[in-house]
Amino acid sequence: MALLQISEPGQAPAPHQRRDAVGIDLGTTNSLVAAVRSGSAVVLANHDGDVSTPSVVYFAEDGTAIVGREAEAQSVVDPMNTIRSAKRLMGKGSADLAGTWLAGHYTFDTGDEAMPAFVTQAGNKSAIDVSAAILSRLKTVATESVGGDLVGAVITVPAYFDDAQRQATKDAATLAGLPVLRLINEPTAAAVAYGLDRDETGTVVVYDLGGGTFDISVLKMQSGLFEVLATAGDTALGGDDFDEAVVELLSSLAGVLDLEDRGAQRRALKCARDLKEALSDQESVEVDWDIDGSRSWQGTISRAQFNTAIEGLVKKTLSPCRRVMRDADLDNSDISAVVMVGGATRVPLVRDSVSEFFNQTVLTDINPDQVVAVGAAIQADVLAGNKPDSDLLLLDVIPLSLGLETMGGLAEKIVPRNTTIPIARAQEFTTYKDGQTALALHVVQGERELVDDCRSLARFELSGFPSRVAGAVRIQVLFQVDADGLLTVSAMEKESGVLATIDVKPSYGLSDGDIESMLKDSMDYAAEDMHKRLLQEQRVDAERVLEAIAAALAADGEDHLDDGERAAIDGHIELVSQALSGEDGDAIKSAVEALERGSASFVERRMNASVKQLMAGQHVDAVVAKLEESEEP
Ligand code: ADP
Ligand code: MG
Repeated sequence: MALLQISEPGQAPAPHQRRDAVGIDLGTTNSLVAAVRSGSAVVLANHDGDVSTPSVVYFAEDGTAIVGREAEAQSVVDPMNTIRSAKRLMGKGSADLAGTWLAGHYTFDTGDEAMPAFVTQAGNKSAIDVSAAILSRLKTVATESVGGDLVGAVITVPAYFDDAQRQATKDAATLAGLPVLRLINEPTAAAVAYGLDRDETGTVVVYDLGGGTFDISVLKMQSGLFEVLATAGDTALGGDDFDEAVVELLSSLAGVLDLEDRGAQRRALKCARDLKEALSDQESVEVDWDIDGSRSWQGTISRAQFNTAIEGLVKKTLSPCRRVMRDADLDNSDISAVVMVGGATRVPLVRDSVSEFFNQTVLTDINPDQVVAVGAAIQADVLAGNKPDSDLLLLDVIPLSLGLETMGGLAEKIVPRNTTIPIARAQEFTTYKDGQTALALHVVQGERELVDDCRSLARFELSGFPSRVAGAVRIQVLFQVDADGLLTVSAMEKESGVLATIDVKPSYGLSDGDIESMLKDSMDYAAEDMHKRLLQEQRVDAERVLEAIAAALAADGEDHLDDGERAAIDGHIELVSQALSGEDGDAIKSAVEALERGSASFVERRMNASVKQLMAGQHVDAVVAKLEESEEP
């Protein structure tokens, strides 16, 4: 038996005392917890003796939450109180529910639009509550295994999780009483597990097809660190969809049209899933499907039949593959390894299709179900301080561009997507109107040119800075994204130092679609968006000129203009207004130019008059300085 070390009272614990930390793969379908033991990461077995715990929670009548295999068993007999795939709803609002798998399988209370809840016999449960129950169970498995308290956990999230989804994951950990050392992207964790940081030259693709999400990432090793060059994926594609496709196949073979009863649906899905998993190792499988207690179907399904059923879904994973390669500006010859992650990559057709796509054998050495948890455990061990000389540093990227709304409803990108985090980026903005002393800041996320097409993250205000002419105020806006991918935005007026800051704790459910479709839209609408942006820019410019001329006419129109000139300028103003009511950017531009030409001599006379006024009794330098000040953009 090992000797226990005890330190002297009042002394710090011995420097080599271990601080226990775990890595958690909080999956849509399965969750795992792992820890580093004697230098290597091991996945911890749960109370059932399994290393993977189904991400399923059964809410019993008395309010207790049963997690894992026992809960899964309830799925058939009591489907409405047995919640699975809750991860799909993390950080999402009621508006995001429509048309999803979840909406078809559960009853929801959407009274709180920002956070819809599953209606169960134990009361309403949000996706955060469900995740907290899973994390709490894994925490118990871990504390029992290490025999003491945990410093904390590294929890993995899909690379495509946005701010709201990451925040929801942190909230679930807090509810479970589990300190979060860091959230890291699942493919990044997989790369750590493979020790890819030891390969100094490689560029690696991580293909992760789980139960409910698909992520594809390109990682590049750079002098012992690795950087995520690009990520893409589909937040609603995975092995669950294979199950649905198999249910369709079985239904058509059995001539079953009606699977409305939820219990029967669950039974069919369970049967389909067992069949699918068996077909990963066998060429054909005997099926005995108990349809609804009274009807049943027996038959043989071959791998070829299965492949036909899922072919379209597998193909669907290849377009994000194409996109990351384009984003990272790489071709297949640049890729040194393709890593397979996620239970669904055990399907031979998936492996073959991905091999063919990247034109090389894919890596499956580390169990694809466990590789993410293993990487998270290694990272947790480093963060807990057990490896002081470790130089492992993880660089992740932000999935969607972050920016601000500018005049005309345009989105100005400040941190472009796929920028590695943590990151701080500053940009200067100015005022639009003379005498403006406040600025409304609207933080948005997305790839589109118009704010209306982006996701709104937060609004705040910077006020109380000195009144200056339009364009003279300098406001520095700073975007900081921390290592967890959470955003802080601050704005400071440089003359007065007035400061306003906001932590973007995005309200849940502001999303009006998933990231995948936002990215797709940004490509589909690129040309149209650019046209709209140019038009909006012309509009903003025209309005600025109109306001300036109106102000000049109001101040000096009487003194410096005869009736004919005044009428001509009014005519030009009318033409600009008319052009503004249309959609033709070029027409607006030429009307504005005509107005500027038509009013040039008036503007010049005003200028001369004010110079004369200024000159009276003043030194020339002072006049020049004054003029420069008034000419600032
Ligand atoms: P997640 O990351 O979403 O929790 P996992 O990586 O655990 O998911 O993968 C779960 C998916 O993998 C499920 O759809 C499951 O049916 C599927 N799966 C697990 N084992 C196999 C197998 N042997 N063959 C095919 N699919 C499998
Ligand atoms: Mg996974």
